[in-house]
Amino acid sequence: MTDTVRVRFAPSPTGPLHIGGARSALFNFLLAHRYGGKFIVRIEDTDLERSSRESEHNILESLRWLGIQWDEGVDVGGNYGPYRQTERLESYQKGTEKLLAQGDAYRCYCSEEEIEAERQAFLAKGELPRYSGKCRSLTEAQEEQYQQEGRKAVVRFRVPEQGAIVVDDLVRGEISFDCIGIGDFVIVKSDGIPTYNYAVVVDDALMEITHVIRGEEHLSNTPRQLLIYKALQLKEPRFAHVSLILGKDRSKMSKRHGSTSIVNYREQGYLPEALVNFLVLLGWSPEGEEEIFSLEALTELFSLERVAKNPAVFDLDKLNWLNGLY
Ligand code: GLU
Repeated sequence: MTDTVRVRFAPSPTGPLHIGGARSALFNFLLAHRYGGKFIVRIEDTDLERSSRESEHNILESLRWLGIQWDEGVDVGGNYGPYRQTERLESYQKGTEKLLAQGDAYRCYCSEEEIEAERQAFLAKGELPRYSGKCRSLTEAQEEQYQQEGRKAVVRFRVPEQGAIVVDDLVRGEISFDCIGIGDFVIVKSDGIPTYNYAVVVDDALMEITHVIRGEEHLSNTPRQLLIYKALQLKEPRFAHVSLILGKDRSKMSKRHGSTSIVNYREQGYLPEALVNFLVLLGWSPEGEEEIFSLEALTELFSLERVAKNPAVFDLDKLNWLNGLY
């Protein structure tokens, strides 16, 4: 790796830190430390209704407890506070103006009911539900008319009507997404707040992130994000989507298999060292047979090459075994 590694963990503060999020944070942290890079925490709080300072606090406390400390952030009296997207709204506005001026984005005045009706119509035809692009070429007069009717506009990204977008993923290889199924998506909501897919691109570019390591559930967002990188002529990071975490019965990890929030383990008296050791083995495997690792040892061993594509299996017995060893 030649460039300085810059990675981030970007939680939405809509609940406590979960096992999957903690694992993403850990992988990012380890990659940064392995290569003498920087690990950043960015709070993605653009969903104003679901975000709370309480959740943010919980997430940051859980990270600190695990020993996953960040290296950069907003200066709060000599310490680093995390970056927060709601404090960075100006950065997104510049990009929106550029996209609108270039014709890569446009204002859409459709109501939720109209959009839902379109989605249903696509479904009825056996096609992927999406936005039709109805507001793509509105005239100024039409826009004025909509505004007079009291309609509020969102900003949508104009997705090419044909072609494919290839995500070159460090864990999963090349994955191709057809543009047609994507549909023009919202980048700025009617209250002026950017959506996740848009804000994440602007921030990752401004923060010069080199690698985005995150959960597989975001894989389908990546083609949207790549389109925005291209339109804004921004340098793309490398992507690594880590597998889902399943319970022992191979169903999606849930409370039935063990607590899903880090704070619960803390409250139950588990040791952070054991949890870190357990989390890293959820998807990463070392070269040898060794299974017991400290955070320090891991920072010398971790590599993305050994992150598995297959789902990781959550095994509470293993965590208990590790916890007994520390
Ligand atoms: N805010 C997103 C989440 O919590 C972050 C996804 C990403 O890392 O890009 O799921």
